[in-house]
Amino acid sequence: MRVLVTGGAGFIGSHLCDALLGEGHSVLCADSLLTGRMANLAHLGNEPRFEFVRQDICQPFDPGKIDYLFHFASPASPVDYLKHGIETLRVGSLGTMNCLELAARYNAKYLLASTSECYGDPLEHPQKESYWGNVNPIGPRSVYDESKRFAEAVTMAYHRYRKVDTRIVRIFNTYGPRLQINDGRVISNFMKQALLGQDLTVYGDGSQTRSFCYVSDEVAGILALAKSDEHGPTNIGNPGEFTVLECAQVVLEVTGSNSKLRFDPLPQDDPKQRRPDIGKAKKLLGWEPKIDLRAGLRMSLEYFRTAVDAAGNCI
Ligand code: UDP
Repeated sequence: MRVLVTGGAGFIGSHLCDALLGEGHSVLCADSLLTGRMANLAHLGNEPRFEFVRQDICQPFDPGKIDYLFHFASPASPVDYLKHGIETLRVGSLGTMNCLELAARYNAKYLLASTSECYGDPLEHPQKESYWGNVNPIGPRSVYDESKRFAEAVTMAYHRYRKVDTRIVRIFNTYGPRLQINDGRVISNFMKQALLGQDLTVYGDGSQTRSFCYVSDEVAGILALAKSDEHGPTNIGNPGEFTVLECAQVVLEVTGSNSKLRFDPLPQDDPKQRRPDIGKAKKLLGWEPKIDLRAGLRMSLEYFRTAVDAAGNCI
């Protein structure tokens, strides 16, 4: 197949490009490089089945015939989407519609990267796909949450009205090599701070929870969903749930760091708890994650060390 991956220079997008090439497909990666990085694709420089185009997919764009479109373009870390609020809303709305038009034109299959943020600060726990969420539509995070909720809505509309063969993955917190060390996420911040001997910045009292999925597990789930005929949203994440304080402890253990904790203010509308119910993915796709947080952080350690060393005094 000839596959278009929007946002293919991003963290998950670049791992997805690798996995698709590994399955023998030709991959065209389109990325505006607003938050994506060519460094994530550097190892594909000599790969004849790989093409890169620097492209903001909010602008009209014709990649030629494609068989599958994976729409992963969007800022995704809270620091990034709060910095690029308008661009985030634009890529979730205009960008997503452009992608769906392409899928319709070339009769290509389509998969949208959506998010656990669709559940907002959830009142149901763990989160099942049937839960409609608890999102503040005008809060600071709404630039991302509502952008992705609109992206899901327009994806379902193209499926219903234009018969596009669509899928929606709701991605929960994911980490691993290529997670940008300056993207402000909890794993990138804690790993960087631990390796530099700086205090780990715990927001609030650290009792809020997240569930962290290693990137190879996440991509395996995404590919399994891509091959299925399921059109409704599907959670792909690791149900192993940690408080932020527990996460800090695991990072200290894995890095062998003596860093202390520092307590900083909790960002507005920060979800208090998050854990995917993956019953649907297990039953439908026979997929479940294999790598727990400790093992995944150990597997990521070398990447974070190298990234912190390379950033040197720039951090
Ligand atoms: N967090 C933290 N310290 C940091 C970065 C994040 O305590 O340096 C917390 C944040 O408040 C949230 C959780 O860790 O409760 C996960 O944050 P992240 O930015 O990784 O992603 P989110 O799941 O909120 O999208």
